Amino acid sequence: MLQPLVLFDLDNTLIDRRGTLAGWAAEFTTEHGLQDDEQAYVLGMVAERAYPSTFDMIRALYRLPMSTTELWRAYCTEIAAMVSCPAEVLDELDELRAAGWRVGVATNGAMDIQHAKLRATGISERVDGVFVSEEADARKPQTQHFALAAARCSTVLYDGGWMVGDNPVHDIGGGRSAGLRTIWINNDRPWPPNDPGPDHTVPNARAAIDLLLLHSAD
Ligand SMILES: [Mg+2]
Repeated sequence: MLQPLVLFDLDNTLIDRRGTLAGWAAEFTTEHGLQDDEQAYVLGMVAERAYPSTFDMIRALYRLPMSTTELWRAYCTEIAAMVSCPAEVLDELDELRAAGWRVGVATNGAMDIQHAKLRATGISERVDGVFVSEEADARKPQTQHFALAAARCSTVLYDGGWMVGDNPVHDIGGGRSAGLRTIWINNDRPWPPNDPGPDHTVPNARAAIDLLLLHSAD
């Protein structure tokens, strides 16, 4: 019998990226002698997603003396040191696997930073596999992204798999198109009108895992 598969998004699903970034932007602007309005601008630039090219723009804009590579490495190190996954969520990931689930992470982004966060938070060692979009240029909501994430968990996409995430288009729309059932982490936001809804809506990752554990008891 196939083990049930669940894929988790990383940012603002298993970890609080949004909260971490504000603290990082404050430290970055202090370190480089920038002003408050520049702090907001830097935060805006990294808000959706950060890549080395983002730091190329920041370096040019503020005429920073260090190289893009140095800025990017510092960003990866600093964010990895600041970010955390709640201990209860880490425990529940263990519980899911003990209950027979295959557990994976399916995340868009750059390899360096996503893997640094996964290692630093302890998530890496609690999942069967991880797929980061940059590894094969396959981004959510493309079905290929989910298929590659399933492959990293030594399984395939099939009816009965699940996707858990906070992004209505990337995680929920993409997961549904890939044939997965979906759980939306709403982070206190309303579901966007006109989009077909998720199978379930919950406030956080713990509630999502509780729901999956209930299903595994079926
Ligand atoms: Mg997310």
